[in-house]
Amino acid sequence: MSYEEVRKVWMNGRLVDFADAKIHAFSHVFHYGSAMFEGVRVYKTRNGAAAFRLDDHIDRLYHSCKIYRMEIPYTGAEFKEAIFDTIRANGFDACYIRPVIYRGLGALGVNPFRSPVDVVIGVWKWGQYLGADAIVNGVDVCVSSWNRMAPNTFPAMAKATGHYLNSMLIKMEALVNGYTEGVALDSSGRVSEGSGENLFLVHRGRILTPPLEGSILPGITRETVITLARDAGYTVVEQQVAREMLYIADEVFFTGTAAEITPVRSVDRIPVGSGRRGPVTERLQKDFFALLEGDAEDRYGWLTPIPVEARV
Ligand code: PMP
Repeated sequence: MSYEEVRKVWMNGRLVDFADAKIHAFSHVFHYGSAMFEGVRVYKTRNGAAAFRLDDHIDRLYHSCKIYRMEIPYTGAEFKEAIFDTIRANGFDACYIRPVIYRGLGALGVNPFRSPVDVVIGVWKWGQYLGADAIVNGVDVCVSSWNRMAPNTFPAMAKATGHYLNSMLIKMEALVNGYTEGVALDSSGRVSEGSGENLFLVHRGRILTPPLEGSILPGITRETVITLARDAGYTVVEQQVAREMLYIADEVFFTGTAAEITPVRSVDRIPVGSGRRGPVTERLQKDFFALLEGDAEDRYGWLTPIPVEARV
């Protein structure tokens, strides 16, 4: 990953040079992880650059902030314009968008109310998150010894930076043991999600995925895949998943804005099905990428074109 091509970053209403996109060391967020964020992809479709499910990502950002009692000082429409401005200022078509709402420089101490709510929007070019050939050949994963947060500890539905310390423990453990990613169980021992992806299984022709109350992030790609799968005639069930289902499933795959749809070819060194990408995963990838490339009809209005000119 390289930030060389990034020219401008949006900070509290202004576009600043990449080199000047700095925050103070006494900012609340730096000490206590008090930020909410999003990750959105812009695809170069047949009909120009378009953000995927931008309104849904903005909604989730506002919801994360509501949960953590942070008021975003912009309307959703203003926020969207700011995102467009940032993309245009960098001259990108395909890119990744990272808005961050954080508690800035005010007063340190756990109480966040004395620190302002500041906003940053960054964009950069980001390729395949789990490796270039992962989309076709799949990844090797382990079940993590770290659980996702128990329901009464952190609100899993909020995409908060502080929560990602848990994700980092899952990811690091996986990497140092030679896996690409870890799958965490929830506090009751059921399958939850990867460090930065939701998880699906195919078992006896049905598609299963852990429910929202399984300490997962309500993934927008997850919801997309559920919709596309039902449209394709598959039965999709949101239900609790026992760990051992990972070992006997015919197919397992991850979903996420960064990971898109990535097959899992082994769990704890046990091959998933034949150990290769399965037909259901492949079919869903086909439908998903056809939509993102502009080859399939955008039935649900999921693609937001990036306006070429700024609004006057
Ligand atoms: N779970 C976690 C913990 C994540 O960080 C992400 C990435 N945002 C996801 C799931 C997938 O969510 P989405 O499809 O909205 O990117």
